[in-house]
Amino acid sequence: MYSEWAKDEIRIDRLEIFAHHGVFPEETRDGQIFYVNATFYTDVHKACEEDNLAYSIDYGDACFFITEWMQNNTCRLLEAAAEKLARALLLKYDLICELDLEILKPHAPIKLPFGCVSVKVHRGWHRSYIGVGSNMGDRERYIKGAVEALEAHPLIKVKRVSELIVTKPYGGVEQEDFLNGVLELETLLNPEELLETLQKIESAAGRKREIHWGPRTLDLDILFFDALCYRSETLVIPHPDLQNRRFVLEPLAAIAPYMCHPLMGKTVAGLLKEL
Ligand code: ADP
Ligand code: MG
Repeated sequence: MYSEWAKDEIRIDRLEIFAHHGVFPEETRDGQIFYVNATFYTDVHKACEEDNLAYSIDYGDACFFITEWMQNNTCRLLEAAAEKLARALLLKYDLICELDLEILKPHAPIKLPFGCVSVKVHRGWHRSYIGVGSNMGDRERYIKGAVEALEAHPLIKVKRVSELIVTKPYGGVEQEDFLNGVLELETLLNPEELLETLQKIESAAGRKREIHWGPRTLDLDILFFDALCYRSETLVIPHPDLQNRRFVLEPLAAIAPYMCHPLMGKTVAGLLKEL
């Protein structure tokens, strides 16, 4: 579950588990003790009102789940164990919006006096809006195919799909009309991983990058990712041109009119009105 504001905490402290993670053969053969600390970020209002566990995360059940996961899997690195277990918890308990997960190894094979070593990760659900477009071949089929591919991804939930609209091409290249829409996703991927996933789906749809703003079977753009402002070699968020594109703002305003542009400080509905 994604939430912008759920910050109540349910915590598990020093759950002791005998398991077999480690780089050295003796570690995977003999096993050793691990401790797990977990903080689940959630919203306990409903559970509190009803005084009912059905509306919360059962920490007893979570302890058994963590123990079984730690014993049924073998990772070389604590990093891998922490990342994968964090994912498994977020997928199993829908009421966890975000979590901190720390795995401690008090008897790590280090020939020096030390208290403990550990790896801690923070993971959670993100909300992202994706612009979709196609202007070659069976445009609707390409867009439906993209939605299906995203739905099939284990770390993505497609929450909403806007109506598709027919629009004139943008950017001055002579070409067929476009079919455009917007999707709302919840995902455990980070922005770069999400971009990579979208580009794989574009390639699978036969997308070739020939002319900038030219014809394409499928175009998938990240419009927003939470309220993140981010810039790398390959990715800019929010999408730098979304405020100038009616074919983005119209379907976006239909499913997320009050989404606020984190740099411009205006809602999507407001940006559309100003266009
Ligand atoms: P456009 O969508 O503007 O027509 P392309 O789909 O060909 O152009 O994308 C060109 C490049 O834009 C991609 O290789 C990608 O790395 C980069 N890019 C930067 N920001 C984004 C974003 N928010 N969403 C998708 N691609 C982006
Ligand atoms: Mg694109």
